Amino acid sequence: CGIVGYVGSEEASSILLEALRKLEYRGYDSAGIALVDEHKSLQIRKIKGRLSNLELLVQQKPIAGKCGIAHTRWATHGEPSDLNSHPHTDVSQSIAVVHNGIIENHAQLRAWLEKHQVTFASQTDSEVIAHLIDFHYNGDLLLAVTETVKRLEGSYAIAVACSQHPQLLVVARKDSPLVIGRAENFTMLASDVPPLLSHTRGVQYLEDLEVATLTQHEVHIYNLDGDEIEREIQTIDWDM
Ligand code: GLU
Repeated sequence: CGIVGYVGSEEASSILLEALRKLEYRGYDSAGIALVDEHKSLQIRKIKGRLSNLELLVQQKPIAGKCGIAHTRWATHGEPSDLNSHPHTDVSQSIAVVHNGIIENHAQLRAWLEKHQVTFASQTDSEVIAHLIDFHYNGDLLLAVTETVKRLEGSYAIAVACSQHPQLLVVARKDSPLVIGRAENFTMLASDVPPLLSHTRGVQYLEDLEVATLTQHEVHIYNLDGDEIEREIQTIDWDM
């Protein structure tokens, strides 16, 4: 029900957990986080229940990385459980995805992927996204995400991390909000402005059927035809 992401110069784990706290008002039943470190290792912690459960899990089994995504889930497809919590991954666990919304054609996509020898780990509608990105991935994460969202029906805000790209996040949206936070030494993303406000006041709103690449210093926004779109950085002048 809430997604956040960070790519920059600091360790991302505590920044992302704190950002999730600011989305708690949206409600959730489980939470999770995925980080990529500079050795191209992607690690995930996810668990049913309150954010304090996830914080405890991360304390017991710490993860490192300056690039990552995190999620609070409000289950729509698949019961609340550790396995159904986000992030979800492809089979080789090199691509991690968090998703807000509902993929209406998930059953057809799942059947198609299963025909292509994909085994699923969860009951969620969201997991198809990770496998589709893997299917379309050929070294270019932006292209793989673009090709994937062309096949999705329904609503989504998604953020994608990949072990092959330790300093890159790719995001996309349709009928579910997603805002990008800009600052000197990092780029962030969130479903809503509050998690960004303690870090920056410069934001860019992603529009429906747009995809964007986020790195520490740069954001590039594209339509699904691959044309780059200019988007001004707005200054948030209100307080929480
Ligand atoms: N439909 C997805 C699920 O049930 C995402 C729900 C959400 O937005 O948190 O896992």
